[in-house]
Amino acid sequence: MLDYTKADWTERASGLRLRNKAFIGGKFVDAASGEVFQSINPATDGLLANVASCDMEDVDRAVHAARTVFEVGSWSRAAPAERKAVLLKLAELIRENLEEFALLDSLDMGKLVMDAATIDAPGSAHFFQWYAEAIDKIYDEVAPNSPGDLAIIARVPLGVIGAVTPWNFPLDMATWKAAAALAAGNSVVLKPAEQSPLSALRLAELASEAGLPDGVFNVVPGYGHTAGRALGLHMDVDCVAFTGSTAIGKKFMEYSGQSNLKQIWPETGGKSPNLVFADCENFDDAADMAALGIFFNQGEVCSANSRLYVERSVKDEFVEKLIERAQAMQPGNPLDPGSKMGAIVDRKQTEGVMRFVEAGKQTANLVTGGAQVQVDGKGCFVQPTIFDDVSHDDPLARDEIFGPVLSVIPFDTEVEAVSMANDSIYGLAASVWTANLSRALRVSDRLMAGTVSVNTVDALSAQTPFGGMKQSGFGRDLSLHSFDKYTALKTTWIKYSLS
Ligand code: NAD
Repeated sequence: MLDYTKADWTERASGLRLRNKAFIGGKFVDAASGEVFQSINPATDGLLANVASCDMEDVDRAVHAARTVFEVGSWSRAAPAERKAVLLKLAELIRENLEEFALLDSLDMGKLVMDAATIDAPGSAHFFQWYAEAIDKIYDEVAPNSPGDLAIIARVPLGVIGAVTPWNFPLDMATWKAAAALAAGNSVVLKPAEQSPLSALRLAELASEAGLPDGVFNVVPGYGHTAGRALGLHMDVDCVAFTGSTAIGKKFMEYSGQSNLKQIWPETGGKSPNLVFADCENFDDAADMAALGIFFNQGEVCSANSRLYVERSVKDEFVEKLIERAQAMQPGNPLDPGSKMGAIVDRKQTEGVMRFVEAGKQTANLVTGGAQVQVDGKGCFVQPTIFDDVSHDDPLARDEIFGPVLSVIPFDTEVEAVSMANDSIYGLAASVWTANLSRALRVSDRLMAGTVSVNTVDALSAQTPFGGMKQSGFGRDLSLHSFDKYTALKTTWIKYSLS
């Protein structure tokens, strides 16, 4: 697969079987209403599939299936080692189908197939394996009570978890939620983004093949205002793990208050700062990573390093290096292994990105890119774009654009850089480039972000928690901390006689 040509990928894409129905109670089913929505390939504007458009009735069926099996206990009360075996099998099946998963996400939302084949799909297998291996190594607690009072503090599954995910990493966002929630013994109802439902449907089918009991993992494709809202308002959902925009994260908090006070865990937007100091050890590495930090996945990354603060004395030289790298990353056919950037997810998102770019042309210094383009006469693509000398108050520096647009802002002192970096409603991630260890530690300590990467960008692994501060949300995906979202602490007191 790693040596496939564009023709190989294209041929395999044309032979792909797409699952387009909802997956409820272990079966593919139509939406009760019979309604469908269109899944469009943004690189070609072509129709991929008509997908079941779930609404309240379908969500209710899925929640009912999830609750029923939870009560039966075939998964929720299975020995952790049994759950481990099933999830390890699922990881293996994902690995056996990497090529298919890579194509599904690439066709559905425009990302480079090679990124999906080498990062997203293997990542999904790895995360399932990681949670499978973790689950039979977690011990509960005994409270240090007086003799005669035994109190066991156990982590128990919450019940039915709603997972609502975005379109930028369709398979991996579904995995981040489902792997930990399932390992902990919950049932899951997943609503993938309407722009990219296909990989989640295939994942559910493979989970069933791996041995997950019917009803434990359900997928209800559909729109946010119908299926997503129904999940948020459902009286029998115990928790919604959400990844998406800050505005919709806030809506889920409202849904919770209007319904059953379900737990809401929002992983939301970002506008991550990248601080490059004049004492940075290697400016070429810093420029490579700064370009990757904003142009990877077309800039459609919640933690994208979209604000670049560079010390004034080295700013012009650094921007020159960035321009060179940006120009070498022009968009191309996502199925071509030689392409450096793929398509933007859809027309609406492309228009939104271009509105920021057009406004920026009036307020900042456009140094490269700035145009919407087509590839082979089709599709939604935006050039890698850099604005220099952006004012800290410009929307370019304030708002999440979620596209390949970088804003460069010069600074004179460390205090000024940290203060501008922290002056944002978001706090998901940040990066710092310096060879001075004291500065690295001092600045990392002061940056208000869930993850700070020093001399790299967007560092992440299964072993480390991922999530934000401020309006980037709360709760953490990945690592053992993710179990905090999907379990409740239950105390059992036992009185016993001392004589
Ligand atoms: P979005 O908020 O528009 O949609 C996310 C999900 O919410 C989708 O499944 C959508 O259908 C659903 N939804 C939309 N409207 C809804 C409503 N009224 N009620 C219920 N559900 C609704 O976000 P998006 O455009 O899919 O993704 C981009 C956003 O996701 C960006 O803001 C990005 O930063 C964020 N994101 C965050 C993280 C993170 O870990 N913090 C990771 C990836 C993406």
